Amino acid sequence: MNVVAVCNAAARDAGLALTSVSLKVRVNNKNNVELMFVCVASSKQGFQMEKVSRFSRVASRVLILLNQLEKLNEEPKVSDYESLRQVTGKILHLIQTQEKTRKEVGSKGSGGMEIILSSLENTRDLQTTLNVLGILNELLTVGGGRRTGLFVSKGGTAVLLQLLVSSSRCPPASEELILLIHSLLVKVGPKDRKFGVKARLNGALNVTLNLVKQNLHNYKLLLPSLQVLRVYAGNLVNAVSLGKSGALEVMFEIIGPFSKKNTTLLKVALDTLAALLKSGMNARRVVDRGLLSTLLTIYQDWHRNDTRHRHVVIRKSILGCIKNLTNIKLGRKAFIDANGMRILYNTSTECLPVRTLDPLVNTSSLIMRKCFPKNRLPLPTIKSVFQHPLPYIPAAGAVAQLYNLPPGVDDVVDESDENESTEVDTENETENEEDETDHKMLNDDIETDINKLRPTEVNSRPFEELRVYERFCQEFTETFEDIDYEDSPAFIPSNISNNRHRPIFIPTASPSSKTHNKLPLQDEPDGAPLELNGISLSKFSESSSEGDLVSSLGHLALDGVTNGVCEDGGEQAVLVVPDTAALLPLHDPDVYLEMMKGTRSVPGYTEVAYPDYFGHVALNLREPIMERVYGVQRTKIFQDIERLIHPGDILDKVVYDLDNQCSPAIDNGESLRFNSKFESGNLRKAIQVRKFEYDLILNSDINSNHYHQWFYFEVGNMRPGVRYRFNIINCEKSNSQFNYGMQVLMYSVQDAINGSPHWLRTGSDICYYKNHFSRSSIAAGGQKGKSYFTMTFTVTFQHKDDVCYFAYHYPYTFSMLKMHLHKLSALRTAEIYLRQDDLCETLGGNRCPLLTITAMPESSSDEHISRFRSRPVIFLSARVHPGETNSSWVMKGTLEFLLGCSPQAQSLRESYIFKIIPMLNPDGVINGNHRCSLSGEDLNRQWQNPNADLHPTIFHAKSLLQYLRATGRTPLVFCDYHGHSRKKNVFMYGCSIKETIWQSSSACDLNEDLGYRVCAACSSFHIDVWMVSLREPRSVQTLPKLLSQTAPAFSLSSCSFVVERSKEATARVVVWREIGVQRSYTMESTLCGCDQGKYKLHNHSSHLLDVENDLIRNVSNITSPTTYVLDEDEPAFLEEVDYSAESEDENDPDLEPDLQDSLALPEPSSDSELSGRDSLS
Ligand SMILES: [Zn+2]
Repeated sequence: MNVVAVCNAAARDAGLALTSVSLKVRVNNKNNVELMFVCVASSKQGFQMEKVSRFSRVASRVLILLNQLEKLNEEPKVSDYESLRQVTGKILHLIQTQEKTRKEVGSKGSGGMEIILSSLENTRDLQTTLNVLGILNELLTVGGGRRTGLFVSKGGTAVLLQLLVSSSRCPPASEELILLIHSLLVKVGPKDRKFGVKARLNGALNVTLNLVKQNLHNYKLLLPSLQVLRVYAGNLVNAVSLGKSGALEVMFEIIGPFSKKNTTLLKVALDTLAALLKSGMNARRVVDRGLLSTLLTIYQDWHRNDTRHRHVVIRKSILGCIKNLTNIKLGRKAFIDANGMRILYNTSTECLPVRTLDPLVNTSSLIMRKCFPKNRLPLPTIKSVFQHPLPYIPAAGAVAQLYNLPPGVDDVVDESDENESTEVDTENETENEEDETDHKMLNDDIETDINKLRPTEVNSRPFEELRVYERFCQEFTETFEDIDYEDSPAFIPSNISNNRHRPIFIPTASPSSKTHNKLPLQDEPDGAPLELNGISLSKFSESSSEGDLVSSLGHLALDGVTNGVCEDGGEQAVLVVPDTAALLPLHDPDVYLEMMKGTRSVPGYTEVAYPDYFGHVALNLREPIMERVYGVQRTKIFQDIERLIHPGDILDKVVYDLDNQCSPAIDNGESLRFNSKFESGNLRKAIQVRKFEYDLILNSDINSNHYHQWFYFEVGNMRPGVRYRFNIINCEKSNSQFNYGMQVLMYSVQDAINGSPHWLRTGSDICYYKNHFSRSSIAAGGQKGKSYFTMTFTVTFQHKDDVCYFAYHYPYTFSMLKMHLHKLSALRTAEIYLRQDDLCETLGGNRCPLLTITAMPESSSDEHISRFRSRPVIFLSARVHPGETNSSWVMKGTLEFLLGCSPQAQSLRESYIFKIIPMLNPDGVINGNHRCSLSGEDLNRQWQNPNADLHPTIFHAKSLLQYLRATGRTPLVFCDYHGHSRKKNVFMYGCSIKETIWQSSSACDLNEDLGYRVCAACSSFHIDVWMVSLREPRSVQTLPKLLSQTAPAFSLSSCSFVVERSKEATARVVVWREIGVQRSYTMESTLCGCDQGKYKLHNHSSHLLDVENDLIRNVSNITSPTTYVLDEDEPAFLEEVDYSAESEDENDPDLEPDLQDSLALPEPSSDSELSGRDSLS
């Protein structure tokens, strides 16, 4: 490479840059090799300079020969045949004996490949052809990839295929020739992306197929032909064509019973068959002839005879064929009819102990799951058990659609085969797919309409209508004249308030003021009076608890009806309330019951769940995220399959059923007792399937027929020390954090009474997978035969006669919110301005609280009052989605912080007025919904056009924001708190025109205040930092400064600032676009844990704000500031862990077969299979 250096130097001297160097080699008349370096240099102005350096030396022998060959090619004469034979013969000899020669001929610059291909194309002489093929064989056998690539790029594939076709036309073709061509094609095929198409276009498919047919007993020729056929069949169009020409039947002639002979051949035949069977048409042909059953027999034969597991690959290939056959409905039926379930179940069970047989077990399990007959859920209907009459039902709305569904619409309709008839014969489509190199991720969802990206005030109500919201903004008109700053008048909201607490003062709510401004406690709800006749509450923590006390307590109920409270002697049971007062300053069981009285649920709940009553104390210890044990899912799936294999073992006993409450389940004392008839409870049905195994069905959101993920229920009558398996069988999401370490939460009443009132992450053998229950496409809203998913977990109870609760996430009821607000206001100090209004009444008749928090003015002087009134507004909301309870815990932390006595909180209060709606969807929370309100709709999709009657909380929240805007009080920040079930850490979504445009790859010259990012960088974990940042949002130094204090759980890389079309009706986008709040966010916190920073691999405890003090430097997280996410609340799953081999079994007809296969079972690519054939024999 000295030449290059010399040229480079020369170019530099001339002020140019070297742009290309090429090498040409030729042999001159004197048999010397001429090496020509052509160096091209150019200047920036486009001036080019070319310098040719010639070197010559005595040519090697092979180069001289190549030179001769080139000349012979130029003017082919019959008389030259002899010379051609000689020259090619000599080259072949040299190449066979000298590695050096191979290098010279095979190198790119030598032109050797072109010369050899050219003579192959031109010669009509068999011996020359054989020589040349021999040369190529040598070249491509050693040092494979690069030289094969060169061969393909020089058009070698087509030359070979043409040679094959032409030689087949004048039989009898030389066997040696055919053999050589095929062994070359085998090498070339996998390296040529267009191989299948080229073979078809050159008419080579049938030539090879006929060779196979004619040489079934000529092993020497059969193997390479079959191998080439295998490559042909990788193209779906070819597969269809070969199938029509009888390829399937030929494969079945080759595939026979167990035999140690010719296993290589057998493997290739099976792989060819599997490739052919990816075509539904071929699969049908095979099934129609009853050959699926033959394959099963062959599989069993190999399973029995291959005792030392030497031929696992063959066994796997047989399963591969069966797998492709069961992609069609007919195949699944044939599989069941041929007793396939039992055969694969039994063989797999025998394979389980040998780890190296895992591929067989996994493929078998895949096939069995695919063929497992689809069932509807064991429910009369999937519509919600409880319905709530709506003030009116919009004709096109979700609820109208639900009610108009014909009866029996839940029924399973297996439509997965619908598309099969319109199969692949459309060649062009497949061809285009082969050409596809465009991997650009185009996202249709990004808003590109610039008009929609500009904040615009739309649909705003006339100011006259908005004027009523003035009553929620009294701080702007407050004069504070009556207040004595030395001694604030005490305002005690109820007799429950403890003297220890500072007196509460509600500035605008004097005792005589309107009721809607008062705390809920002051209102006498017209619910049932609280009489706990059956239970006396005692708050002595030291009292000993008898083992059976808890279970004998039965239910703690508001109306005094308690099951089994009275013991034989008629004594009153004494409920020992754990003393959580010191640990939980905001919790008080008495207040909780009091608050519960005013909470209205659709089913009219009167019972109280113990955890909500006792309170939950967060543990200090960090709970590690559980690591999944290998093979758990497979074991669970096998247990499910056993239900089909051994139906006699299944109890199928309904032990809890909301649909059929009149006829209570027969209880022989052996079954667990279930209950969820309490606030936020969600369990519809429990079926005992085996002695210690229960199928659980969750209720769908009220007035809907789906949305279930949230659960909260009670279990009693357990045996300690026994492993109970629970399966929630109607989950909907396609994946879940339960597959990646999330555990369920359990609360033991025994433990609580014994001083540990904790929700604990528990359960082993947890996994989440698609099951055999599905619903019709009509019931699923048009989506084809949607399957449900099972979330399974196993629990061992510690105590006898305990009552335990399970929940998806730390429950946070509406009554709990009211209790917390009550306690918080009681803790309020005189310098805090705190007002609670009722924003509106919900559909279910509950009051939606609205809080205003700021600092009291220093005095009632004009100056202080004016400063007080001019504070900017910060608007926060949470819990629009009932299943995201963590958003309520974050909100609780926010409120505690804002009402606390830290200097930062004081500073924030003095700087801002906080308007907070802590629960945007109280009805959903109360009734155990996961996503919706009582209108059966997702409230976070109603912000564009909220309806006053159907979506009152959203309607009034938006109107209040419109009022603020209309009075020049547009909030500085809006943030809606959410929880996230599928991503870890804490992160935010915001709205940025610039980033949206950038993501949609258009040009953008917009100038935008980047403060939105600064804010997002500081999560509300550190609301102080977050708020402080608002003061100097434009400062360049703010970002790093703040980031250095960012919460460790916060992940900026998970944030997104893109405006999506599908999100145009969410709070974040509407508040940003219509109200004009530039810093409008959705804040998401994980339901699971963190996989970064300090909290990596830990489940967070319920009080997200407990981590307040953990400030660490964590700048390293900022890798990609903008991550596009598909769905605001549940984005596409972005985990690194891949359990796809275990969980992605489904035959999705929309998927390209190849893609399906790669999803289902990561198999070695076809070329490596072929090149690895030596290891088989
Ligand atoms: Zn949400």
